Amino acid sequence: MANLFTADDSTGPRYLDLTNGGTDVFYDVLTLAGCVIAQTPWQRNLVLRFADGHRLGRGCDGFDLAELPWTGDWPAEKAFLDQLIALALTRHGWDRLNYDPPYAIQYLTRFREMLAGYTPVPEPTPKWGDWRLPPAAALTAECDTHSLYVGEYGCRLCDEYIQPPP
Ligand SMILES: [Zn+2]
Repeated sequence: MANLFTADDSTGPRYLDLTNGGTDVFYDVLTLAGCVIAQTPWQRNLVLRFADGHRLGRGCDGFDLAELPWTGDWPAEKAFLDQLIALALTRHGWDRLNYDPPYAIQYLTRFREMLAGYTPVPEPTPKWGDWRLPPAAALTAECDTHSLYVGEYGCRLCDEYIQPPP
């Protein structure tokens, strides 16, 4: 099983194909970077998507960059996602992982190249909802141990179903 992340309209690379294990790692490192810098409602909704990523629907949780609820403020939104990936590339928070992610830099580098070549198009009725509205406070509460959003399914680094045994 695998998950396909795409950017069909990118002038850069157009896809990132990850195994289920690779997908968990990808969302772990994005969440570690995102929770520390997200401020606006849109930014917090994006990071929540990563925090809850691949918890249900194993093997079918890839998405296309066009599916993100881009708004008229997309230049700032794209810049934030780029900043988030850049922070993840510095291995931010990886000391909180109980495993070594040997391929994560490769995943993040390619995802960043996909984003760089992509020009977002605002979507009036995004299927993921209106990210200009703040997420419920309970969802962005942080785990005491890992300082990550608990989201719908609890802190992902505390989730024994997706983390290797300590
Ligand atoms: Zn935790």
